[in-house]
Amino acid sequence: MTIQISTTDPRSVRALAVLSTADRWVRGHRKQDGRSFYAIPSASDASRVYMVDTRECTCPDFLHRGVDCAHILAVRLKVAQLTAAEPKRRATKPAASFTRDASIGGTIKAPEAARRRCLADDVWGTDGE
Ligand SMILES: [Zn+2]
Repeated sequence: MTIQISTTDPRSVRALAVLSTADRWVRGHRKQDGRSFYAIPSASDASRVYMVDTRECTCPDFLHRGVDCAHILAVRLKVAQLTAAEPKRRATKPAASFTRDASIGGTIKAPEAARRRCLADDVWGTDGE
């Protein structure tokens, strides 16, 4: 799947903001057909929660304009993150975060926990470092 994110598209920028709240999303299943979705809190109204998957959303932007809203884009990005993080297993944990040295020409360093995980991952065939 190709996901288009543009810094000149306000909806893209909002999608990144929505994605940054992923730790507050709640996973659920629709009773009528078992389709899974995320319950995502509204950014503008804390009392509202939208039901979102990679194709549909219950927010006004999707319902009235019929476009892929910021929530749908955020869920697609989240799914892509999970898939990229653990391609051989169904991912449930977020991808490891990486920090960059402040100095110019610094290297990208993986946190210790992620490095240990890479070693463990040798079992299922990563390229190593
Ligand atoms: Zn939406």
